[in-house]
Formats: sequence, C-alpha cells, structure tokens
Amino acid sequence: MAPVACDVCGVRRAVVLQRHTGRRLCRECFREDIVGRVRREVERWGMIRPGETVLLGLSGGKDSYVLLDALSEIVGPSRLVAVSIVEGIPGYNREGDIEKIRRVAAARGVDVIVTSIREYVGASLYEIYSRARGRGAGHAACTYCGISRRRILALYARLYGAHKVATAHNLDDEAQTAIVNFLRGDWVGMLKTHPLYRSGGEDLVPRIKPLRKVYEWETASYVVLHRYPIQEAECPFINMNPTLRARVRTALRVLEERSPGTLLRMMERLDEELGPLAQAMKPSSLGRCERCGEPTSPKRRLCKLCELLEEAGFQEPIYAIAGRGKRLRLQSPTASPG
Ligand SMILES: [Zn+2]
Ligand SMILES: [Zn+2]
Repeated sequence: MAPVACDVCGVRRAVVLQRHTGRRLCRECFREDIVGRVRREVERWGMIRPGETVLLGLSGGKDSYVLLDALSEIVGPSRLVAVSIVEGIPGYNREGDIEKIRRVAAARGVDVIVTSIREYVGASLYEIYSRARGRGAGHAACTYCGISRRRILALYARLYGAHKVATAHNLDDEAQTAIVNFLRGDWVGMLKTHPLYRSGGEDLVPRIKPLRKVYEWETASYVVLHRYPIQEAECPFINMNPTLRARVRTALRVLEERSPGTLLRMMERLDEELGPLAQAMKPSSLGRCERCGEPTSPKRRLCKLCELLEEAGFQEPIYAIAGRGKRLRLQSPTASPG
C-alpha cells in the first residue's frame, strides 16, 4: 500500500487515523494536535494560572507520559514537580521502571521524587490488602491504592508549594465516571467531576485533569510512536474485580467503535450543561480526622484512609503518628525509594 500523506501538513507520511475527526496524521502533527487540545482544555477552565507550580503523578503508564510531555510544553519544566509512587505489589512497579521514568523526565528537564506507600503508611499495598482480606474487609486493592496515592500526592504538593495536582485521567476514564455516576443516580458526583467545581478546605490542593479530552487510544498510540518505555507488567490487581466500571468501559468501547466521537461529544455536552451548576455549587466544609488531622467530610470521625486502614488492622499508620509530616522520611528529587 502506498504511503498516505498527512492531512494537516500534507508532507510527512500519515501514521495515525484519528477516527473522530476522520483525519490521517503524521507523528508530528498528531503530537501537536494532542498538546494543542490539552492546552485548550487547560486554558478553557483556567486549570493552571500563570506562575503556578503543578505537581504531577508519574506512574510510568502511557497517560502519565503524555501528561508529562504536554505539561512540560504548556507550563514549562521549571514549574513541574513529578512524583512517582511505588505501590509495593510483587512483580509490579519495580526499580527498573523507576529508572526509565527518571530518564524520560530528565530529558524534559523535570526531576522526579520517588516515594512509596510503605513510606507513607508503614506497609506496602500488598501487605495492606492481604491483611484486610484476612480480616474479611471486602474492598478492592484499587481502593487502598487510589486513596493512598491521592493522599501522598496532596502531601508532596503542600511540601513543594504546588498550586495544583495534575492527574493523567483520559477521556475514556472521565466518560466512564460520568456514566457510572449516572447509573448510580449520583448527580452531585457528576457535578464534582466538572473542572469548574472547586473542592473546599484551605489545605486541599485542587486537582486538575488536563488529558480529559484525549482518548485512551490516542495516549496509547502516542507512546508507541514516541517509543516511550511504558511499564510492561500490568497491575495484577486490575482484572480481579469485574466492577460496574469495567462493564461500562466495555459498553462505551462498543459505542465509540460504531460511532467515533461519541464519548467526546458526550463530555463536551456535559461540560456545557453542567458548568454553571458546578460553578455555583458550594464546596462542603470539611472536618478533621481524629487520628491524622487530615481533612475529612463533616461528621466523620476518621478520614477514609484511616478508616480503611483501621479495618485492615493498622491502628497507627506512619502518617498519623508522624504528626502531619514531621517524622515522615520525605523524599526530595533524585532520592531513592525506601
Ligand atoms: Zn503532518
Ligand atoms: Zn486520618
């Protein structure tokens, strides 16, 4: 088959068919298209203001590399702090992967802080999960992982004076969340995922999702075309629970396949319709966790993480006895994980 020229530059060879626009793009124009769309999304919602520092979670997954690339171009490497968290799952997220992450980030002038769930909690994710299961707690490993990671990113954001925490959720993730919230009748949850919603509490660093209009297949193609060293091992916990989200994911894939652009149109429409409501929504005032002092919903004694850990039999996580960060061994860029 003869090579096809890129629909944008008309010169270089097209390597990607972007089905939702019907265009064939070369590697360079595809990259420019993605970075441009991230930039527009960031500007549209005022996600990052001039001079702000952004902390980003760098897992070494495909989405995190695209986030790193786009943000180092949009805000500049000097305003980025990257944090990579070792979960502590046997056979996954090994030291070798961390070195690859460091190399890619260094090539963009970004330093990486490497830390672990063990450093923060006092036990690895695998240990927490195993102990919880032994005591009959029925949560998925992803619950412990997600909440711990979120807390660790927030901690480092405060330490480094970052104004925003950027996570690498893509369009597919966000569309799944919207449908799951809809199926549960949780319209407040839907509003809370809108970029104009501001969460409450002074020491909550706002979270932003710059990739929320970039398809998952696009980040996957991007890392292949740019030869990024993506983590080869898949998280062993990923297929363990056939959740509602997993079923929604499958259904949305079919819809997008039959009618490319479906997810993007849905999210654009939701953004428009829910924007004014999300903006008008008052952030709930927060209480304090009795054990660790972190913000928690009012009327709750413990924060979600302390509660989960208590169920799993951890009464004294390191972050709680450390008295708000003092005795935690906190990492600086280029330090090694413990
Ligand atoms: Zn081109
Ligand atoms: Zn707590």
